[in-house]
Amino acid sequence: MTSIAPMTPLEPAEQESFDASLRRRAKAVIPGGLWGHMNAARLPEGYPQYFVRARGCRLWDVEDNEYIDFMCSYGPMILGYGDEDVERAAASQRAQADIANGPAPCVVELAELVVTTVPHADWVIFAKNGTDATTACVTLARAGTGRRKVLVARGSYHGAVPWCTPSLAGVTAEDRAHLLHFEYNDIASLEAAADEAGDDLAAILVAAFRHDVRRDQELATPEFARAARALCDRKGAALIVDDVRAGFRLHLGGSWETLGVRPDLAAWSKAIANGRALAAVTGNDRFRQAAQEIFITGSFWCAAVPMAAAIATLHKLHATDAVGHMARMGERLRAGIEAQARRHGIGVRQTGPVQMPMILFDDDPDLEKGNLFAAAALRHGVYLHPWHNMFLSLAHGEAEIDQALEATDHAFAAVAQQYG
Ligand code: PMP
Repeated sequence: MTSIAPMTPLEPAEQESFDASLRRRAKAVIPGGLWGHMNAARLPEGYPQYFVRARGCRLWDVEDNEYIDFMCSYGPMILGYGDEDVERAAASQRAQADIANGPAPCVVELAELVVTTVPHADWVIFAKNGTDATTACVTLARAGTGRRKVLVARGSYHGAVPWCTPSLAGVTAEDRAHLLHFEYNDIASLEAAADEAGDDLAAILVAAFRHDVRRDQELATPEFARAARALCDRKGAALIVDDVRAGFRLHLGGSWETLGVRPDLAAWSKAIANGRALAAVTGNDRFRQAAQEIFITGSFWCAAVPMAAAIATLHKLHATDAVGHMARMGERLRAGIEAQARRHGIGVRQTGPVQMPMILFDDDPDLEKGNLFAAAALRHGVYLHPWHNMFLSLAHGEAEIDQALEATDHAFAAVAQQYG
């Protein structure tokens, strides 16, 4: 038994910041300091690990440094941290009940709202995390078709359990036995994988767009989306769109509405409740029976506060043309970055939808320029990510974009100085 250190060091060791002291203590009691994608050790030197405040599109670390945030908690924050309408709805629900022996009435209101917002949806099931939703989609597709094989794009991220986690540590071959791979946006490879599945094809599971880390982003082509739909129809398989990351940023009805292609099942989470823990599986009537047959639940899946927050979030997304706003702000950021890169004589590639920016540098195989750029922007008060897609929100206005561009101008100067 070790004694518990006070959270605020009374006399911080000299030169050791509060963030550094927390990291040092965490290493002893949390493997690797932090699990998963938010481990700041994955980021360049200077990135804080711990935050104490968040408001609008701004974050404050434990040293009280303020940042304009372009990660939005890796997606969940879509209206702004502490959005007043969402917080009011959450507080009002919390005053009544959060978790009980059954859900609150708002579950029905939310389900109706989701079904009217998402055109392919005849029904919805709520859960907590994106992985719950993608896993449920795969189970549902298998239950509904009585088949086993699922096609997934090589390199796509769908969650952190054995059937899909990117690390193979602790994963058995059996966990992956019925997955077959194709290349995103490559119709021939999709058809080859479907041929290999033969009459055992349960589903094609596809991310809303190719948002793999450390590479240029790629929107799904309409031809690819239509081919996936046609293949599923021909083979009697389920088309599943994983909208966990992109959901509600490209189109409120689902990202593939922009392509005119509707899935049978879709997985949602991140932005649906503006930062409250909630996920959803939507599906059409073809899979309603299967959705009743599988046993799917979790201790916290019926919590009411996140559902009340989701109702307020969806209403506000509809009322504010949030998608249009994020697209306009994303264009402004992209145009600004483009002009700066040109002026500094530095080649950058900005790919994917403007609402979810990705900035990679030419001739930068080890991401050294990208890391230098992001670390310099951070010192000027802007939190970017050097190799993961970023996220805009309704709270990013013109003033914040312009302020961020002042920081990126300094960051480009730092890159030009080192590599120019
Ligand atoms: N699918 C996609 C496309 C994701 O981006 C993520 C999370 N980054 C997941 C699934 C898994 O979601 P969660 O981390 O909430 O389980």
